[in-house]
Amino acid sequence: MKIAILSRNPKLYSTRRLIEAANERGHEVRVLDALRCYMNITSMRPSIHYKGENLTGFNAVIPRIGASVTFYGTAVLRQFEMMGVYPLNESVAITRSRDKLRSLQLLARKGIGLPVTGFAHSPDDVQDMLKMVGGAPAVIKLLEGTQGIGVVLAETQKAAESVIEAFMGLKANILIQEFIKEAGGADIRCLVVGGKVVAAMKRQGKEGEFRSNLHRGGSASLVKLTPEERSTAVRAASIMGLNVCGVDILRSNHGPVVMEVNSSPGLEGIEAATQKDVAGLIIQFIEKNHQPNKTRTRGKG
Ligand code: ADP
Repeated sequence: MKIAILSRNPKLYSTRRLIEAANERGHEVRVLDALRCYMNITSMRPSIHYKGENLTGFNAVIPRIGASVTFYGTAVLRQFEMMGVYPLNESVAITRSRDKLRSLQLLARKGIGLPVTGFAHSPDDVQDMLKMVGGAPAVIKLLEGTQGIGVVLAETQKAAESVIEAFMGLKANILIQEFIKEAGGADIRCLVVGGKVVAAMKRQGKEGEFRSNLHRGGSASLVKLTPEERSTAVRAASIMGLNVCGVDILRSNHGPVVMEVNSSPGLEGIEAATQKDVAGLIIQFIEKNHQPNKTRTRGKG
């Protein structure tokens, strides 16, 4: 196969591992910076150009699109889809997963366990909404945040009210969430490939930190999933329409609750913690499933 990887930096661990795994299995790989792809969308034959070259002949494309370039990156991916190239994850599913609120709404509709979550626009509704999510302590999250930045634990009602008012005053969109104290500052990252959890790790926040993000000093270890956790992760991936994703779960008193579904999960932490060749499994999934024009949406909707 000839595989394109949309990535801004071929030196990143996940990109390097995907190149390595594809080469090992005899495939030709090309890393393309999505921001340098430009498109001809006027003709009947959609095309993508790259630094003067007309890109052709790709069987599959692996999107590794950073949150800050979602808009342009998914447009490029959509163009690949319209040219009939098989995407590891479809552009529509990536766009969907990048909107935390929309993702939670879709998961809730299908009965996936979630932390009780509220969303409001007006400061006048803050008190009632806080009551709705069970009062303090509560977690307040910036919708645009990643890597734990913009996730705040408000211990008291007063603290929650003032943080919410401050964010609202800055016109930031926020979610207010029940604090899952019993998770003990840990979460579980389930790596789903083709409808199966192929690797899972527990991430524990450093002492005194309720956020378990590895970027914030958390540490990862192997974990054994319960059947319910496994099926929650698989169902969440399927509802989001993602072939490959990281599903983040908290262990709550009311069972596993999904916090987030990440469409470009990092491979470094999970491969190190589990010793699994996740990159290899991703390439094998593409080998089995790639076909020209085989997308559910072809970039539509
Ligand atoms: P980001 O997408 O920025 O990583 P998350 O929503 O995943 O933000 O939150 C970061 C971390 O904070 C999570 O990994 C988890 O450990 C902790 N956390 C988030 N929401 C809750 C919650 N409702 N209850 C308890 N801990 C939470």
